[in-house]
Amino acid sequence: MKLSDIGEFGLIDLISRHEKKLPSTMIGIGDDCAVIRSQNKYLLVTTDTFVQDVHFKIRTQNDFFELGKKAMAANISDVAAMGGIPTHALVTIGLPKRTSVKAVQELYRGMDSLAKRYKIDIVGGDTVASPKAVLVSITLLGEVEKENLLLRSTARVGDLICVTGRFGGEARDNFKLQTSNFKINLKESRKLAKAKLVTSMIDSSDGLVRSVLEIAKASKVGAEIFEDLVPRAKGATLEQALYGGEEYELAFTIRSSKITQLKKLKLGETIVGNIVAQKQGVRLVDAYGKIKPLKSGGYEHYK
Ligand code: ADP
Ligand code: MG
Repeated sequence: MKLSDIGEFGLIDLISRHEKKLPSTMIGIGDDCAVIRSQNKYLLVTTDTFVQDVHFKIRTQNDFFELGKKAMAANISDVAAMGGIPTHALVTIGLPKRTSVKAVQELYRGMDSLAKRYKIDIVGGDTVASPKAVLVSITLLGEVEKENLLLRSTARVGDLICVTGRFGGEARDNFKLQTSNFKINLKESRKLAKAKLVTSMIDSSDGLVRSVLEIAKASKVGAEIFEDLVPRAKGATLEQALYGGEEYELAFTIRSSKITQLKKLKLGETIVGNIVAQKQGVRLVDAYGKIKPLKSGGYEHYK
């Protein structure tokens, strides 16, 4: 069997079956961050890697700045998805010998710009040679008060599915670093967590449909997504909005009775669907109420 037979998600399923659990491991593989019991809080840990020609292309030196920003943003978004606050980062870089020193400084300028804004300390990492591709891998630590932790696995039948922002902009622009204009929803996620309104949450880094699939899988429920409700970035196709990804918006579920309270937070969210029983599966519904087949959705490595 080859990786191309099972894909990235199949591979992760295989790996997660071998997971060991210490009493301090609250959540291991399967959410946006691992959650580790600490004295009076939970520690959050996440890692994301970006590889040249898989996740990005490098055309100019300024791309290194954008790459640094994006790699940091992807990790911050995973901490935001848990309702937490990022604190410390480890940064691993793999670089071909020919890389200019200036390019590496630009990469760090990009990471530092967000680290400064969100009060994250880069406390270590690793530097290695790479034969051809530039690689950046960030491990981000964070924390969340016990009562504010939000998981993927706690959506309930009857909940509404909400999203922040608009979708499909990155896919429309062919995921170019130079034009990426993702938003980081850390403030929004903290507001949601503290208001105790949300039943489950995830970030939309692998695309809107993929996010809903992941919530459904983790929560053992089904879902309906109403495609004409999905907020699209200007000029993005429906396909791009549903499956595009690389946007760090939040997708969350909420009891329908809490919608008035949610509106008071002024997050500018959109309701895009609802949670149904698991046996109904995850379905896409068009403007005429017709059920459309769902592609598995999102970018998948090795496929
Ligand atoms: P995200 O898109 O939120 O960063 P991923 O889709 O990359 O999450 O990963 C899904 C889950 O699988 C996460 O909990 C992640 O920590 C875990 N995971 C991914 N790759 C591995 C691996 N090689 N070994 C162990 N766990 C992994
Ligand atoms: Mg995530």
